[in-house]
Amino acid sequence: MAEGQIIVTGASKGIGAAIATELDGRGFDVVCLSRSGTAPKGHGIACDMTDEAAVRDAMAEVAKRGPVAGLVNNAGVHIAGPIATLDTRDFDRTMALNATAVMVAAREVYPHLKAAGGIIVNIGSFFDRMGVPDNLSYCASKAAVAAMTRCMAVEWARDGIRVMNVAPGYIETDLNRDYLAREKVKAWMAQRIPTGGAGSVDDVARLVTAIFAENIGYLTGETIYVDGAQGINH
Ligand code: NDP
Repeated sequence: MAEGQIIVTGASKGIGAAIATELDGRGFDVVCLSRSGTAPKGHGIACDMTDEAAVRDAMAEVAKRGPVAGLVNNAGVHIAGPIATLDTRDFDRTMALNATAVMVAAREVYPHLKAAGGIIVNIGSFFDRMGVPDNLSYCASKAAVAAMTRCMAVEWARDGIRVMNVAPGYIETDLNRDYLAREKVKAWMAQRIPTGGAGSVDDVARLVTAIFAENIGYLTGETIYVDGAQGINH
């Protein structure tokens, strides 16, 4: 992998912040994007990933700083609710950040990554292959991430760009802290997750960092689940 900056979206907290911190610790030059622009490590840029013009400007700003070697499409939202009363605006909000913004960010960074022969890591979810009650929008958006990962990998392989989908299971962050704290949920996780419970942000961060650090030329287009084997436990 060529030398250059790695852009992490949604890097102000949670999994994104852990990824930025781990990458920085391994010597990578990190650029953190989020609406607040808070950077736990590296350089921070305020950018709403659902604002196409802002994403274009942010990618151009990064490219002006120097070569771009990677993108981690991590920013995401989770809005739960039954299908029967699902508000179309909530469905659209979920798709706008979890799916459309992944495509837009990849498209806008592509000319810069092409120059460097870089890597894109999309953060999906183990829900991408499940039917989960109250989670239609989220499941659909993460299935789209897995599909887009395959398309980008095939279409951009000859440009020297590799694309991976890292799909976490339950990881305790602001996204789900209240839900995971419920006694009923804890008991259910202990029973259903073969490793016994939720994973940590560091589990995801170390996997993402390994993809950049190990730079395996023949590995592209795949989904790697980091979910304690919950997704295959039937
Ligand atoms: P958090 O809610 O903890 O963090 C979300 C991050 O995204 C924040 O940095 C937030 O910063 C940023 N963000 C939110 N909206 C936007 C936006 N419109 N534009 C730019 N940045 C935005 O979430 P997690 O860390 O838990 O989740 C990160 C990713 O991991 C998501 O894609 C999620 O779907 C996925 N995931 C999480 C799992 C979990 O159990 N936690 C499981 C499976 C997948 P700011 O508010 O400053 O913009």
